[in-house]
Amino acid sequence: MSQRLARLDEIPVTELRGVGRQKASALGALGITSLLDLVMHYPRRWADRTAMATIAELVEGEEVSVHATVRRSSLRHLRGRRTMVEAVLVDGSGPTLSITFFNQAWRASQLAAGAAVVVNGRPTAFRGGLQMTNPRLDVVARPTSAGDSSPSESSPARPVPADEAATVAGRHTGRIVPIYPQSDKAGIASHEIDGYVAAALERADREDAFADPLSARRRFELDLVSRAEAFHEIHEPRSFEARDGARRRLAFDELWRLQVALVMRKRAAMAAARGIRHEGDGELLRRFLDQLPFPLTGAQERAIADVGRDLAGPYPMHRLLQGDVGSGKTVVALAALLRGVEGGYQGAFMVPTEVLAEQHLLASRRHLGGLSTADPSRLGGTREVAIELLTSRTGAAERARITAGLASGSVDILVGTHALLTEDVRFSSLGVVVVDEQHRFGVEQRAALREKGAAGHDPDLLVMTATPIPRTAAMTVYGDLDSTVLDELPPGRTPVRTQWIDDPLAEGPVWQHVRDEVALGHQVYVVCPLVRAGEQPDDAEEGPELDEPEEDRDAGADRSSEQGDRVLRSAVEEHARLVGGELAGCRVGLLHGQLRPSEKEGVMAAFRDARLDVLVATTVIEVGVDVATATVVVIEDADRFGIAQLHQLRGRVGRGTVASTCYLLSPAVEDTLAGQRLRALEATTDGFELAEVDLELRGEGTVLGARQKGRNDLRLASLRRDRDLVDEARALAESVLDTDPGLARHPLFAEELRLFVGEEEAAYLFKS
Ligand code: ADP
Ligand code: MG
Repeated sequence: MSQRLARLDEIPVTELRGVGRQKASALGALGITSLLDLVMHYPRRWADRTAMATIAELVEGEEVSVHATVRRSSLRHLRGRRTMVEAVLVDGSGPTLSITFFNQAWRASQLAAGAAVVVNGRPTAFRGGLQMTNPRLDVVARPTSAGDSSPSESSPARPVPADEAATVAGRHTGRIVPIYPQSDKAGIASHEIDGYVAAALERADREDAFADPLSARRRFELDLVSRAEAFHEIHEPRSFEARDGARRRLAFDELWRLQVALVMRKRAAMAAARGIRHEGDGELLRRFLDQLPFPLTGAQERAIADVGRDLAGPYPMHRLLQGDVGSGKTVVALAALLRGVEGGYQGAFMVPTEVLAEQHLLASRRHLGGLSTADPSRLGGTREVAIELLTSRTGAAERARITAGLASGSVDILVGTHALLTEDVRFSSLGVVVVDEQHRFGVEQRAALREKGAAGHDPDLLVMTATPIPRTAAMTVYGDLDSTVLDELPPGRTPVRTQWIDDPLAEGPVWQHVRDEVALGHQVYVVCPLVRAGEQPDDAEEGPELDEPEEDRDAGADRSSEQGDRVLRSAVEEHARLVGGELAGCRVGLLHGQLRPSEKEGVMAAFRDARLDVLVATTVIEVGVDVATATVVVIEDADRFGIAQLHQLRGRVGRGTVASTCYLLSPAVEDTLAGQRLRALEATTDGFELAEVDLELRGEGTVLGARQKGRNDLRLASLRRDRDLVDEARALAESVLDTDPGLARHPLFAEELRLFVGEEEAAYLFKS
């Protein structure tokens, strides 16, 4: 019964009139091979023809769109590697319009003479005529050189005259013209796509391909239009309102397909699982908690209870623990590992950096000191809980000792880095796996660690992150995990005061404050984006990449003003500068990714033991580093870091009871995205609030990461705008699957899922 969307996917674009080999391959370059691809190739913008004018009608300062043809254009190289692209446009109304783009050299190829374009912007007076600087630009038709197109195809084989450019979208009786994502390389223009889409919609109607999987009642409840209406209105909207309704409906389809897949995956994983029921009376855990030097926060208690239930249950735990920096996740991790140990299983605690691994080992040994567990080698005997550390630089002899201990069962908990994943690391009975700062690991790495589980069993998995993501994003990215949030900080913390210093001349008081804190016996971090001047950001081994705002063609102006040609500060030079100047007399250490591991460890240990007052570092200190007496962090060139990274870096202070300060040094970038990031950091210390701002500023692409690629990705749904729909989609998925786990009674859902998730995934989801 291949109708519906699946039917559309079976019809190749070559069945459309006017699509020959050449156009088909151009469409192919855009990822479009079937009519389904075509109707799902949504416009990226809709031009409002009510705000159109001819060049003769332009008024200085009034925003407007113009359809015109490029008469000529030029690319010029200015001083300091800057570029300017200038083009002269005509539309037959008389005068010309000049447009210029700065530092967008790639525009030159778009603006070939003869190309038909729509520009949108505010004209300004220029040499007696009018000009637009960095306008929005859409190429609606490129000039086609003779011989480039076969006669069977319907593309214009000559430059498009101005009057024709003005009617390229003449098919639209309304006033809203869709502008499609197009490819200059592929050689296909927006108006051509427009024509193909119209033909595909017509064909879809004839085939009844837009049959709606949602009942009329459900649509009414959710205030959604029908699928057929949605596809028509997204491509040929009668009004912007209708387009919004269409977008909402199609977004909901994306979201429910994703949620149904996630919920099915979660349930399939459970069905296939061979979990461990961890046993024991919790005595070991109780003794551990009793000897902690502080009472648990309510949030920690709840998290430990969640984890305890998972561990005692028949299914393997698959839980995400989100907790802001300093919320005390390590204690929850240790509690989970101890529950496993008590029942006779081993635990693995994987962290992304050596610095962090060492620190966790110290914390674990401190908190678990003297705890004993049953020793199966001696009847009724006990021995101390044994914790070991394994990293890539563990010596061969030590490594042999540890792997032997893992194999014999005399090592209970192994803390370490990626080194845990190597093949010779074999556990005798791995039962609990904890992955800290899990976003630093790939899905395969988490899976690889789980593979090491006790024979015939899937170990329980707890993944932790201090980079909160908004709830709807979590539901989308981690929708197949259970989730616990540590929404409470240990008491007695004084919130970190954050100040953005945008004037280099105002840095004097910052360093004075640093000296004052050092005099009080407190410690200070100074963070720089680079290791050495002129080098790339420090991402050697463990530093993450700089978190730049998403590249968006339309945000070119914003980016170019952000890029500037400022020289970024480097840790090596800043260290030398401070030692010889502002911080003369203080004990100042240097830490970055290019140091040898032993050097790094030495510096970190000196800072921890207060043998250093100040640590000048790159982002190697970003995650986890916990020194309670540190009270100031100075982040240089702060506009170079993303929100999550700044929040993490700031989280290095404010860990004790003493008031702490975070200084963000960055020149005025007020109106840019960077400026908004720094303002947000100043305004709140709440990681979840910042996560929302981050999503707002960056868009979902970066949040979703590589997770969403392919047909089942989110093209129209927005995790910002469509928060309510994410919830509704989840609810729909759960209620349908509760009563109909294999979707036998929801054939349209099942068919669509198979169509969208790909064969392999579908086989997994539907296997039971
Ligand atoms: P994170 O969630 O960022 O990994 P940590 O687990 O490193 O946080 O904890 C941060 C600091 O807070 C540590 O020094 C830890 O000992 C301390 N801590 C954890 N839980 C509590 C608590 N309930 N009360 C007081 N201090 C705590
Ligand atoms: Mg931590």
